[in-house]
Amino acid sequence: MEGAVYTLPETIHHECTVNTSIKTCGQKLDIGTQVVTWTDSGGLPCPNPRGRQGFTQHPPALNDAPTREPEAYKIRNTTRAYEELKQRVHQLVLHYDACYCSHHCHQVLKDSSFLGSHFYLDLDGTLYQTCDLYWKTNTGPGDDGRGNDRAVHVEIANLGPEALVKDAELYQIKQDQYRVINGQWELALPGKFRDTLRTPGFKARPARTFGERGYFSRTINGKTIRMWDFTEEQYQSLIQLCLGIHRLLPKIKLRIPFSKKLQRIPLDRIDNFSSFSGILGHSHIQKGTRKGIHSKYDPGSAFDWGRLKKAIENQERVA
Ligand SMILES: [Zn+2]
Repeated sequence: MEGAVYTLPETIHHECTVNTSIKTCGQKLDIGTQVVTWTDSGGLPCPNPRGRQGFTQHPPALNDAPTREPEAYKIRNTTRAYEELKQRVHQLVLHYDACYCSHHCHQVLKDSSFLGSHFYLDLDGTLYQTCDLYWKTNTGPGDDGRGNDRAVHVEIANLGPEALVKDAELYQIKQDQYRVINGQWELALPGKFRDTLRTPGFKARPARTFGERGYFSRTINGKTIRMWDFTEEQYQSLIQLCLGIHRLLPKIKLRIPFSKKLQRIPLDRIDNFSSFSGILGHSHIQKGTRKGIHSKYDPGSAFDWGRLKKAIENQERVA
């Protein structure tokens, strides 16, 4: 046929460079959501890792401050290390980071001489793994001061009470940090942080809002906590992380605290906070009953525990 133009189909070959696996002690597990590990380009290595008490595959000198050079944190036998980790670590503790985004959180932890967190969960759902889970991070000591030895931690990006002018203590803000734009609540992210997100142009909108005011308010460990919700992308990644962590470390069961007395998910510190095996919040393990240990409220009043419970407990039945 004259005049017909044939064009060869253009073959676009995208090199798949997005990592979706978390890793520990030579094990790797695909959790189906974007993960940037500490060895990846753009990764955020934990500034202050520590050795877990009683674990044998590192020199005990690494258990306490001061922070050593990154090269010092070597795992001798990863097979044995993984066994120890599986036997002894039984909690995944959720936090809000009281920061604008994960890069902001990383900077705050870098400025400290001892703080860290195994994971950061950014506004756009990107998960950063900062170190091998074999190591301890000082993220939440719990009321017995031993909380970090038995746990893996995730700092989820959310300003928490710091977003409200009337509650903010860390930052000098002149107005609330969430506002309604075209009918939707949105975090007003400063330019320097906006450019650090892996998703260009991402708008951080709360997954749920409360009435006209937008933010949620509940009393946690004796304090009223007002905050806007986490993003939909964060919930989706967090659910994948919970399912993955359970497969990697089965003593972290797919369950969250439930109070028989209250007949609901509690927000305050629970009585069995040190023996509980599963997924729980910083506020569940720490209300500051011991000298030098502060009362904690995260992941806070907006966190949708009901959604997480439904998502992970259904999975446990399937498994
Ligand atoms: Zn916390």
